[in-house]
Amino acid sequence: MDPLDRSTIWPYEDGDPGRFYYSRYGSPTVEEAERQLGELDGGTALLYPSGSAAVTGLVLGLLSPGDTVALAEGCYYGTGVLLTELERWGLRHVEFDQTGPPPPDVQLVWLEAPSNPYLTVPDLEAAAAHPASVVVDATAATPIHLRPLERGADLVLHSATKYLAGHDDALLGAVVAKSPETAERLRRFRGVTGIVAAPDTAWLLLRGLKTLRVRVERQTATAQALAERLRMHPKVETVRYPGFGGLLSFDVADGEAARRVETGTSVIVNATSLGGTTSVLETRRRWEGDRVPAGLLRLSVGLEDAGELWSDLAQALEQA
Ligand code: PLP
Repeated sequence: MDPLDRSTIWPYEDGDPGRFYYSRYGSPTVEEAERQLGELDGGTALLYPSGSAAVTGLVLGLLSPGDTVALAEGCYYGTGVLLTELERWGLRHVEFDQTGPPPPDVQLVWLEAPSNPYLTVPDLEAAAAHPASVVVDATAATPIHLRPLERGADLVLHSATKYLAGHDDALLGAVVAKSPETAERLRRFRGVTGIVAAPDTAWLLLRGLKTLRVRVERQTATAQALAERLRMHPKVETVRYPGFGGLLSFDVADGEAARRVETGTSVIVNATSLGGTTSVLETRRRWEGDRVPAGLLRLSVGLEDAGELWSDLAQALEQA
């Protein structure tokens, strides 16, 4: 197994700092996890204490006051909330439909593949043709389904809290940069600001990566089967599923019906987040307000038996 080194300091070598000397600037377990994730995504990876910390480190590290981010409409709600918070520091953002070209006069294009909870897939070619740098939040796709750096993106972002660590026991984020110079700039900003990941969570990422492919392939197969059955269910009005990954969303008639479904399952847990081994389901209106339909439910498919999951969902839908 990969060793876990919790040291914050290492002795100088012949009177000078060696490769590791103070953990805010680098530590062995974090670096090993970064090396493995970098290989998966085909770039230089940097870990942060959460996905949101990775967003913060990326935009503050690369942008300046007065810059504008073109943000994919319907992407993870928290990313928009975070960028709104940073307006106080002079950072602007505008929303756009990521299935088409990004608007002009922006300094960063922010895509999400697929978007959470609308499950739209960005037009990577159109974004790559834009002069601004392109970031893809590929949390829900994972490198198993998408390697954005091979498709013209400059940066990839992951909430590693989800599929990458994969067991709902590690809060972690990552940025993977195509250019080593950009990675170096982000690394410097991260060290100075102290937005660094801890060795324990980096170790949990290393453990999670060992099973990433089998988990994601299984979750995809189950999600495909569930999406198909949900589409045929009379109580289900809309199903959003891009055909890959373990995340989907569907609508029932209204908020009350959705609440009966989310509280009516027994195998599927009524909880937030996604990407773990346990299936979780929740209405998103509670977090996102009017931005989403009242009857929208988001389902993150875990590793349980597909037949058992469908029986659980079907009996809950009877109450919708
Ligand atoms: N990006 C996406 C697509 C997410 O779903 C989330 C969290 O749900 C984040 C970023 C933020 O990650 P974290 O919760 O690790 O800060």
